[in-house]
Amino acid sequence: TITMIAIDEESNIHVGASTNGLHFTMPGRVGDSPIPGAGTYADNEVGAAIATGDGDVMMRFLPAMLAVEAMRAGSTPSEASRLALHRILKHVRDFDGAIVAVNRLGEYAVTCHGVMGEFSYMVSSPAMPNRATRKETIK
Ligand code: ASP
Repeated sequence: TITMIAIDEESNIHVGASTNGLHFTMPGRVGDSPIPGAGTYADNEVGAAIATGDGDVMMRFLPAMLAVEAMRAGSTPSEASRLALHRILKHVRDFDGAIVAVNRLGEYAVTCHGVMGEFSYMVSSPAMPNRATRKETIK
């Protein structure tokens, strides 16, 4: 799954996802990626979040919406992504996935678990020299 969060020059926040789904799923399966609140969620007043990993699990917990609502209630992106992940882990201990949360100021954090115990993502910002793109990895 390739998922993106973008904040434009007018402070509108956009999310998008493109996925080939999980391996060995049934033809016609609809995963979490296109489900608002599960794979992606954005609210201009707060920020956005995206999730990748075992979509059949994530669809049950709407982690992207949960992370955005946590930020609305005052959580940092780090706290929000952890809260969303831990909500899943409370019920599904062997969950594999990652959650990215970005607030409307562009501050971001990533939390991951399981086979996604190391998760790489790209960051780009007008504040970076030449609008460069930087790869970051979280363990
Ligand atoms: N979440 C996707 C799915 O279950 C898979 C992925 O994130 O790579 O379809």
